[in-house]
Amino acid sequence: MMSQTLENLKSYLKRMDQYNHVMELLFWDMETNTPKLGFEGHAEALTFFSTEQFKMSTSEELGAMLEKLAKPQEFDALDSKWQFIVTRMKRDFDKNKRIPAEFYESYVMARAESENAWKEAKNASDYSIFAPHLEKMITKTREMAAYTDPGKEVYNVLLDQYEEGMNSDTMDRLFTELKKELIPLVKQILAAKQPDDSKFAGHYDIEAQKKVQKLLLDYIGFDWNKGTVGETEHPFTMNFSSKDVRVTNHFHEHDAISAMFSAIHEGGHAIFEQQVNPDFDGTVAGSCSNMGIHESQSRFYENILGRNKNFWMPIYEKLGTLLPQFQKISLEEFYQEINHVRNSFIRIDADELTYCMHIILRYELEKAIFRDGVSVEELPALWNEKMQEYLQIIPGNDAQGILQDTHWSGGSFGYFPSYLLGSIYDGMYLDALQEQLGNVDDILKEGRIAEITKWLGEQIHQYGNTRTPGKLIEDVCGKEVSAEPLIRHFKKKYSELYAL
Ligand code: ZN
Repeated sequence: MMSQTLENLKSYLKRMDQYNHVMELLFWDMETNTPKLGFEGHAEALTFFSTEQFKMSTSEELGAMLEKLAKPQEFDALDSKWQFIVTRMKRDFDKNKRIPAEFYESYVMARAESENAWKEAKNASDYSIFAPHLEKMITKTREMAAYTDPGKEVYNVLLDQYEEGMNSDTMDRLFTELKKELIPLVKQILAAKQPDDSKFAGHYDIEAQKKVQKLLLDYIGFDWNKGTVGETEHPFTMNFSSKDVRVTNHFHEHDAISAMFSAIHEGGHAIFEQQVNPDFDGTVAGSCSNMGIHESQSRFYENILGRNKNFWMPIYEKLGTLLPQFQKISLEEFYQEINHVRNSFIRIDADELTYCMHIILRYELEKAIFRDGVSVEELPALWNEKMQEYLQIIPGNDAQGILQDTHWSGGSFGYFPSYLLGSIYDGMYLDALQEQLGNVDDILKEGRIAEITKWLGEQIHQYGNTRTPGKLIEDVCGKEVSAEPLIRHFKKKYSELYAL
């Protein structure tokens, strides 16, 4: 007989999910469609629903149900899905309960002020406006970690928040390996002959670019019965469940390539969510909360597949029909341009290779803050020093340097490394995929990319949030996480591209 407590939990979660559903819908509308004067009303409704949802997620009633279901006699009778849900929810419930309400309020307040100060500082390109707020966020983050995970190393708590089980010993090992190989590789490439990008200048029709997005999403296996698209300043993916996953894009009149790769990237995030077991919908077992794993899927499509010349062979002619400029550009020239290595100041504009250095720099600064107690005043100089060492450039101002990302202003310390972890995992998946399905170049060239999407679905997507990153990598790749496959992939690819 089904446990009565489990039945109660199920209907409780259903109600919570309904609040969530409304919140997501409001969020989507505010991001894509709300007129200027409509924001206030939406924001009020959003505050109402999120307050209700917060009450439900911290209520005595929920705590009692989880407590009961976690007891061996009830727990052992649960299936593996519900065991996962109960364990995960109880862990988070207990953590949240340790945070004093007045501290949480002061944290939320400090964060809002910090985010505003960051915007102002970035516009004025003046770090001194942001520095006191950054300092406050660092202090508050330390306090928060002391409540949620007492006795644990703060930076490890932060890393674990975004990638379960991750710690700085593992990160150090991976990033040291990468630095040793990539710093000289970047130097070599920057000294080599660069491709001519003058052919790509011009005006690209926005409506035609939207058709290219549709072509690309179709091609990689985005399911339109379970998804839709919108336009925003910064592209993102969101989902209500596996049956409704939405991506956005930003189109540039003078650059068609940017939106193509955003479409493939967000499409990768979306396909992941669409292929999660629908039985997990509306619970913590569904949507994947490990950022490195999520990013590994968007980046696998964007970089491993999308920046491979063979990916484009079956569709390059169609691309030229939609955007005639590409009829005058050979596939080889296009391939060189989408892999053009440039040492730029801005992370989000960086190519696949120098991107790694942008992340390593941020990781090292976060570690310096939380482990070595480096002061906020010392950070800009440290930033510049590392830019010089890794990319041979020094930002001309704060907006181009330390103020470029929003993450720290919102207290998201420990988030950056997950972007690069995603690429490191990708190197490993590529090995596993080729072992099981054969040469990736051949699969792509022959237009059989659907086989790759199916493989990723079976190996990774269907499990949603239910496996830790460590377990996932072990199951899919049969070994511990290592940067070696990614380094090998980079070396092979770039020595051919740049005739090194
Ligand atoms: Zn992403």
